[in-house]
Amino acid sequence: MIGIIGAGITGLTLSALLEERGIPHVVLEASSRPGGVIRSTRMDGRILDHGPQRTRVTPELSRLIKRVGLEEEIVEVSPDLPLFVCRDGRLRRVPFTAGGLLSTNLISTRGKLRALMEPVTRGWTDEETVGEFISRKFGREVYDNLMGPLFGGLYGSDPGRMYVRHSLASTMERMGISRSILWRFFRGSFNRAAAPAAISFREGMEALPRAFHREVAHRVHLSTPTTELRRAPDGVGWLVATEGGETFEVDRVVLTVPAERAAELLRTEAPEAAARLGLLRYNRLAVVHLEGPSGQLHGLGYQVAYGSRIRTRGVTWNDSAMGRPGVFTAYLGGARDPGLLELDDGEIGDIARREFQEVTGLDTEPLNVSRMRIPSWDRSWTLLEGLALPEGIYLCSNYESRVGIPGRITRASMMAREIASLPTIRPKAQRERRTSGSAA
Ligand SMILES: Cc1cc2nc3c(=O)[nH]c(=O)nc-3n(C[C@H](O)[C@H](O)[C@H](O)COP(=O)(O)OP(=O)(O)OC[C@H]3O[C@@H](n4cnc5c(N)ncnc54)[C@H](O)[C@@H]3O)c2cc1C
Repeated sequence: MIGIIGAGITGLTLSALLEERGIPHVVLEASSRPGGVIRSTRMDGRILDHGPQRTRVTPELSRLIKRVGLEEEIVEVSPDLPLFVCRDGRLRRVPFTAGGLLSTNLISTRGKLRALMEPVTRGWTDEETVGEFISRKFGREVYDNLMGPLFGGLYGSDPGRMYVRHSLASTMERMGISRSILWRFFRGSFNRAAAPAAISFREGMEALPRAFHREVAHRVHLSTPTTELRRAPDGVGWLVATEGGETFEVDRVVLTVPAERAAELLRTEAPEAAARLGLLRYNRLAVVHLEGPSGQLHGLGYQVAYGSRIRTRGVTWNDSAMGRPGVFTAYLGGARDPGLLELDDGEIGDIARREFQEVTGLDTEPLNVSRMRIPSWDRSWTLLEGLALPEGIYLCSNYESRVGIPGRITRASMMAREIASLPTIRPKAQRERRTSGSAA
C-alpha cells in the first residue's frame, strides 16, 4: 500500500498511473476539493482561472486526457497568437524566429549586435544565477527586456536570485542546448508552432484535476489533512496520522504537498530534512481578473520589462487566447515586488486596472483578487542538495522537479515507474489499517 499525501495534479496523476498498474494506494487530501492550485470558478457566466491559465500537451498528458474523456472539452490556444513585452509603456512583439529577432523593436540595434556574440561566450558556471548568465551571454538589454521577464514570469521569481544549476540548466538540457542558445534559436527550436500545443478546457483548467479525480475517487479521501508521519512499530512501513484521528498504515509515502507542509510532516522522523524543506522560499502572487471589452486585443498577453515603474508583472488575455469574452488575468507581486501583497485586495485590483488601462488603453473593472504561492527556485534551493530522506519516503512535488503541469505529469510518471519497480514489503492483508473515521 502506497500513501500519497495531496490531491493536486501531481497526486491525482500518480494515483491514476498506480491504478493503471494495479498498485494499491490511498490519497489523502486536506481540502474538500481536489486540484490544489488549479482552481477555476464561474462569475456571472465567466470562467476565471485562479492558478494556471493553460498547459502544454505532452504525449503523456494527451493520453491521460483521452483516458478521462476530456478531449471534447479542450480549448486550443492558437500558436500564432503574438506575445508582447511592455517596454517604455508600449507593447512590443516577442520574436520567436530568427527574422523576428532581427526586426523586433523590443531590442535596440546595439542590443541585437551584443546578443549576436552569444555563441562565442562560455557555458554556465555552478555559482552563476540565471540573471548573471543571460546578461553575460546576451547583454543586459536582452535580459531586462526579453529573457528576464519571460523566464522569471514562469515562477513569479527573480532570475537574478535563481541559480542556473537549479532551474535553467535542466531546460537547456531537455532542449539539447550544450553551449549556444542563439544557435538553437536560429535553427528554429523556439518556434512555437513546433512545440506541443497549449490548451485550456471549456470550464477552465480545473476540469483536468476534476476528471482525474473522477477516475480515482475511490482512492481519494478529501477533507483529510495529514498531521504526522511515524515509522510503523515493525520499523518497515509508515503510519500516517490525520487530523480526524485516523491512522493509515502504508509501505511507502509520497509527499506532493508544498515544502512547508512536508517539513511539518517530517519534523519527528527526519528533523534535518524537515529543517531544510522549511527554509525553501515561495513567492507570493496576486492574480487579478479584469473584465473589459471583448475583441479589442489580439494575442496571448504581455510581460513587463524590468526597470519599468509598472508593478503588474504580466497579463494573460483570456479574451483572445481562450475565447473568454472580456476576461484578462493580471499577475502582480512575486519576488521582485513582495511588498505588493501587503496591500488590500481593493488597492491591488485598482493598480491592475489602472496599469492595464495605461498599457492597452482599455477600461476594465476588477472582478476578483486571489493570493497564490509558487516555489521561487531561488538560491534557497541549495538546501535540497544532498537532502536525505528516511527509507520509504519520497518527494514528488513542484519544488523538487519542474513546476509546470507537463513537468508534474512527467514526474508523476517517473514516480509510478519507480514504485512499480520496488519490491512489495508486506503481505496484502496487513497493508492498510483504519483506526477510526470513514472514507470521503
Ligand atoms: C499562480 C500560478 C500560476 C501557474 N501557471 C501555470 C501555467 O500557466 N501553466 C503551467 O503548466 N503551470 C502553471 N503553474 C504551476 C502548476 O499549476 C503547479 O506547479 C501545479 O499545479 C502544482 O500541482 P501539485 O499537485 O504538485 O501541487 P499543489 O497543487 O500545491 O497540490 C498539493 C495538494 O496538497 C494538499 N495538502 C497540503 N497540505 C496537506 C496535508 N497536510 N495533508 C493532505 N493534503 C495536503 C493541498 O491542499 C493541495 O491540494 C502555476 C502555478 C501557480 C501557483
